[in-house]
Amino acid sequence: MGAIQIMDALLSNKIAAGEVVERPSSVVKELVENAIDAESTSIEVFLKEAGLTEIRVVDNGKGMDQEDALLSFSRHATSKVFQEHDLFRIRTLGFRGEALASIASVSKVTMQTSNGVEGTKIELDGGRLISSEESSLRKGTDISIQQLFFNTPARLKYVKSIQTELSHALDLINRLAICYPSIAFSVFHNDQQLLRTPGRGDLHQVIAAIYGMSIAKKMIPFEAEDPDFRISGFVSYPEITRASKNYITLFVNGRWVKHFGITRSIVEAYHTFLPIDRYPIVILSIEGDPLLTDVNVHPAKHEIRLSKEKELKELVENTIRDRVRKLYQIPNATAPE
Ligand code: ADP
Ligand code: MG
Repeated sequence: MGAIQIMDALLSNKIAAGEVVERPSSVVKELVENAIDAESTSIEVFLKEAGLTEIRVVDNGKGMDQEDALLSFSRHATSKVFQEHDLFRIRTLGFRGEALASIASVSKVTMQTSNGVEGTKIELDGGRLISSEESSLRKGTDISIQQLFFNTPARLKYVKSIQTELSHALDLINRLAICYPSIAFSVFHNDQQLLRTPGRGDLHQVIAAIYGMSIAKKMIPFEAEDPDFRISGFVSYPEITRASKNYITLFVNGRWVKHFGITRSIVEAYHTFLPIDRYPIVILSIEGDPLLTDVNVHPAKHEIRLSKEKELKELVENTIRDRVRKLYQIPNATAPE
C-alpha cells in the first residue's frame, strides 16, 4: 500500500477553516452574507464578547428544508454554483460552499431553519453532528456559533482584544449595511444595540445611521456610466476628511471589495481639495457584467480582478472630480486636466 491517503472530511474542513475563518469577524461575514444570499429583508446580529463567546445571526430569508440544512455543513455543498460556467457569472456573495463546513469544524453550532413548510434544528460540535430534529420557526434561519476556535488553540491565541475584534466585526457589518440599504440590519453586543438601519432602500438613511446625521448632511450623491460600467454612490464635501482610507467603501456588483487602483483614483479625484494625508468619505458602487470581474482570487473573496480597469478608473476619477468641483461652482468641470 502506498503512503498517500485521502484525509477525512473533519480534518480537511479544519484546514480549510484556517483560510476562511481568520477571526470572529470572518464568521460574521460568512453568516451575514448567507443571510443576504437567502434574500432576507431583516438581519439581526448578536455578539457576545465580540463574537468569541457567541455569534448569532437571525434572518427572515428563504430558509432551508431538512435535507439542505444537513447538507449545508458539508464541504463544497452549495446551492449557488453548479457548473463551471456559473463561476463566471456569480451574482451571489457565497459560491464556494465552504463557509459553514469550515466554521462548524472550529466551533459549536446550533442552527434552526425553516423554509415555511418544514423546520429543522441541528447541533454540531467541532464539525460532528450531535443532533437533528424537527422544530418550528417562522421562515428564515437562526444560526448560533459558540466557543469559536475551542479546538484550535493556536488560532485562539492569535485573536486580539475584545475591542479590536468588535471593531472588525462592526466595520464589516457597516459595509454590508451600506451595500444593502433595503435590508434592515441590527447589531447587538452583549445586549447593547450598536447599529440599526431602517431597511427602506435609502442609502442616505444608512449613512446617517452609521456615520451620524451631521456627516450624512455633508455627503452628496453621484452617478455615471460608460458602455461597460455603471457607478453610483456618495462623496463627502472636501472639508469632511479622515486620517485613513478606511472610510472609502467600494462595492462591485454588491460585494464589498478592496481595490488599490480604484481607491487611488478616488483620492486623485479629490487632489488639491484635501490636505496632505487626509482622505474623504466615499461610497462607490460599481455595477457591470460579472464577466468583467473575477472574485475567485482569494477564499475570503475580498480581492477582485477587473477587466477594463483603466476605463473604469477614468470614469471614477472624472465623475468624482466633477462632482466635487461643482460644489464650488468651478466652471468647465467636465474637462480633465
Ligand atoms: P456558500 O454560501 O458558498 O454556498 P456556505 O457554506 O456558506 O456556502 O453555505 C452552504 C449552503 O447553505 C448555501 O449554498 C445555502 O444553500 C445554505 N445556507 C447557508 N446559510 C443560509 C441561510 N441563512 N439561509 C438559507 N440558506 C442558507
Ligand atoms: Mg456562504
